Amino acid sequence: MNNISCELMTAYIGLGSNLETPVAQINSARIAITQIEGVQELAFSSLYHSLPMGPQDQPDYVNAVMAISTSLEPLELLSSLQAIENAQGRVRIGERWGARTLDLDILLYGNAELDFPDLKVPHVGIAERSFVLYPLQEIAPDLWIPGKAALADLVSQCPLDGLRRLD
Ligand code: ATP
Ligand code: MG
Ligand code: MG
Repeated sequence: MNNISCELMTAYIGLGSNLETPVAQINSARIAITQIEGVQELAFSSLYHSLPMGPQDQPDYVNAVMAISTSLEPLELLSSLQAIENAQGRVRIGERWGARTLDLDILLYGNAELDFPDLKVPHVGIAERSFVLYPLQEIAPDLWIPGKAALADLVSQCPLDGLRRLD
């Protein structure tokens, strides 16, 4: 038996899909995330229907937010999530915010504020995106967003922009 102890952090992941049966993509991603070594699911929001950001000539999205407990470092977590995006057919064609089978973004990693070249935490869009804020509020209503504000205040200032909960 080894005595290595790993600090566990709570992190929040934003999931989104608008191609190839989005609900199935989100459900598969949830399972894949729980199968990452060093990750355990703490909570999973309802699924939400949202309108696309950026290019409008693409299907509507399905979104959700997941809370995890993890022993992984932030960049290890990012790379595990990108492997799941790739495994589920994510194609990067260079268009910003274009259609995708799966998007997995690290929204929060504990109370950390991170500014790596490939990883900004809290996620840069967190304060303005209804499809992130509302599902996050559903599973963690008392959150403080580091460097920004109370989640509840951000939600109160964020229009729904067509967001609705799926049954
Ligand atoms: P947005 O980040 O505005 O939601 P997007 O999710 O469509 O846009 P991607 O193409 O998925 O963007 O990712 C582009 C790059 O963003 C990734 O290669 C990754 O290195 C970087 N990135 C920076 N911060 C984060 C984060 N918190 N979570 C996930 N990726 C991030
Ligand atoms: Mg994204
Ligand atoms: Mg992304």
